[in-house]
Amino acid sequence: MIERLGAPLADPIFNQLAIIGAGLIGSSIARAARRRNAARRIVLADHSFGVLERAKALKLGDLVTDDAARAVRGADCVILAVPVGANEAVGRAIAPALGAGVIVSDVGSVKSAVISTLEAVLPGHVRLAPAHPVAGTEQSGPDAGFASLFVNRWCILTPARGADDEAVTMVKSFWEALGSHVEIMSAAHHDLVLAITSHVPHLIAYNIVGTAADLEEVTRSEVIKFSAGGFRDFTRIAASDPTMWRDVFLHNKDAVLEMLGRFNEDLTALQRMIRRGDGDGLFALFTRTRAIRLGIVAEGQETAAPDFGRRASTAEEPEP
Ligand code: NAP
Repeated sequence: MIERLGAPLADPIFNQLAIIGAGLIGSSIARAARRRNAARRIVLADHSFGVLERAKALKLGDLVTDDAARAVRGADCVILAVPVGANEAVGRAIAPALGAGVIVSDVGSVKSAVISTLEAVLPGHVRLAPAHPVAGTEQSGPDAGFASLFVNRWCILTPARGADDEAVTMVKSFWEALGSHVEIMSAAHHDLVLAITSHVPHLIAYNIVGTAADLEEVTRSEVIKFSAGGFRDFTRIAASDPTMWRDVFLHNKDAVLEMLGRFNEDLTALQRMIRRGDGDGLFALFTRTRAIRLGIVAEGQETAAPDFGRRASTAEEPEP
């Protein structure tokens, strides 16, 4: 399946879009915004020399710079696309250069902690409109990005109390222009939902791959050689960026621990079913869980392909 972006907009949504962080998400936003003509001018900043060189070579922005404050000067929208834990430093660095009324958004996978941080470090004259595109891959960096990453994926907006309606509407229009479906919810609810749908699954993947790697009676080469489909899917998730995921767990601590508590209780119940030979219990649960998978496929959020649809869904549409 090739996901397609729509035709370029006649009128860009933003005049100057500044993206801080030119990795997977930042570079994908730049590519998609350029294709859709969602911003007249795109400026990219990153602190990594190698990333900046690649961003320039890939022509991702009208200006590519290592100076985040310079990047946001004159911008009417700034999107922070750095790891969750880097938002404070970036916020402090750009704060003096942000003009009155500028929209500041982000893409962080955690919302409550990021909002508190940004509210503390940004000046009162900016309009904060946080967002989380629920789209990504286990890859990082500007070469991993692609314009259709957000097509047909959800983007969750979590405006804080008293948020500027126009700013939220413009950020919503922007993500819709990039092909996303937009949903609005509170940051606390977002963090709870994502804890169970994304954060805990990643933790389980990191844990199971770590456990397999540490087994003494099964060699590392046997783990690689005989890796069955289930384990291979876990290794894909467990290959996700260590910085990003460290920050997610450090900043969504409460929701993750709450969901992990529920998970542990249910795992204990499963353990008991196996010990007692409760085949009916196991069968009933597996039937229920299969229906969830079918529901996700039916909603177009995944294909039925056995590779979890990732290879197909990341297929890039050709340059126009
Ligand atoms: P990424 O590919 O690693 O890109 C992040 C970029 O930000 C890197 O180039 C990094 O450089 C740079 N950076 C870090 N600290 C910086 C700073 N202080 N100033 C300027 N640049 C800085 O990560 P990503 O996957 O795009 O993730 C970015 C954000 O998107 C995260 O908040 C994550 O939670 C969110 N998100 C990710 C996904 C996903 O699937 N990956 C999905 C949705 C949302 P260095 O690597 O050299 O430090």
